[in-house]
Amino acid sequence: MRLHNFNAGPSILPLPVLEEAKANLVDHQGLGLSVLEMSHRSPPFEAIVDRAKGTLRRLLSLPDAYEILFLQGGASLQFAMVPLNLGAGGAYVNTGVWSQKAIKEAQITGCAPQVVWSDEAGGFRRVPAPGERLEVPAGAPYLHYTSNNTIFGTHFEHVPDADVPLVCDMSSDFLAAPHDPTRFSLVYAGAQKNAGPSGVTIVVGRRDVLRTFRGPATTPTMLRYQIHAEADSLYNTPSTFGIWVCALVFDWIEGLGGLEAMGRRNAEKARLLYDVIDRRSDLFRGHAERESRSLMNVTFTLPTPELEKRFLQDAERAGCIGLKGHRLVGGLRASIYNAMPRESVEVLADLMDRWQP
Ligand code: PMP
Repeated sequence: MRLHNFNAGPSILPLPVLEEAKANLVDHQGLGLSVLEMSHRSPPFEAIVDRAKGTLRRLLSLPDAYEILFLQGGASLQFAMVPLNLGAGGAYVNTGVWSQKAIKEAQITGCAPQVVWSDEAGGFRRVPAPGERLEVPAGAPYLHYTSNNTIFGTHFEHVPDADVPLVCDMSSDFLAAPHDPTRFSLVYAGAQKNAGPSGVTIVVGRRDVLRTFRGPATTPTMLRYQIHAEADSLYNTPSTFGIWVCALVFDWIEGLGGLEAMGRRNAEKARLLYDVIDRRSDLFRGHAERESRSLMNVTFTLPTPELEKRFLQDAERAGCIGLKGHRLVGGLRASIYNAMPRESVEVLADLMDRWQP
């Protein structure tokens, strides 16, 4: 029996991916050893990296001018690597906890971030509207934003306009719908929501940005994109198993019709939940403002903590787990990433529809 897994990350993986991983775990495609036992410098593992990159490149329609890196340290390490590599004085949009952490790391690294927009006072219920002016200082080396705010359940439906290079933390909506990679200098994402298991961080960046180091000489080797780009993500031992599972997830997405198909599926799943929230607004109150509603993390509260507890218990009885909201927002959060089947969302939506306090 598989649970309806609404965890925010690590989170649900596609069942066919888990089954293929299981089938090949002990003997990788008849080679007589597991991917867990392979040298990262062996031809079979190089083939896995090439395949992962090739499929991801096709999914994103990524031009030659862009490179893909598979790193470690989570998206959290990117918070420091971005300013260290791209230069001091980056502009930041503050749409919640993860943006704040990115800003803090830029401060710690001495890179003097400039916050150009924040909804902290409003409780992080929205992101800037399309066309809303962001006062980005002309000389800023980049504008950083978080496309999907995992904790607050808000997202950008648009790419913000800026006259400076764009950097985006796409951790929780990478590969959830098509995006135009050429709008960005650099995109990063922890894999553990839509792209694979924890332990892999995906960076997609313009070749010249990744290969030209502009940071301080004291920057450790492992924190330089250039080193990883020149070594084809094999400067040191990468998360070999993790990259393999990412490759399987990319194949699964491609097999289902790519990012357009993902985007359609995800919009339909999210609509199921937001429709009940709107229909039963006496009972369920969405955290995000309507225009900013995330398609990945649906956040809502009930009138009292007691009711929330009872709803969570009933949801668990129906096999729905991982629904407790982040402690900062309280309430509930349904994370419905790519691998979450529509049927599981229907189970939750149906319970919300029928539930009586
Ligand atoms: N950014 C966003 C938007 C996230 O959701 C998360 C993790 N939930 C992070 C960054 C941090 O990722 P990691 O745990 O991979 O460092």
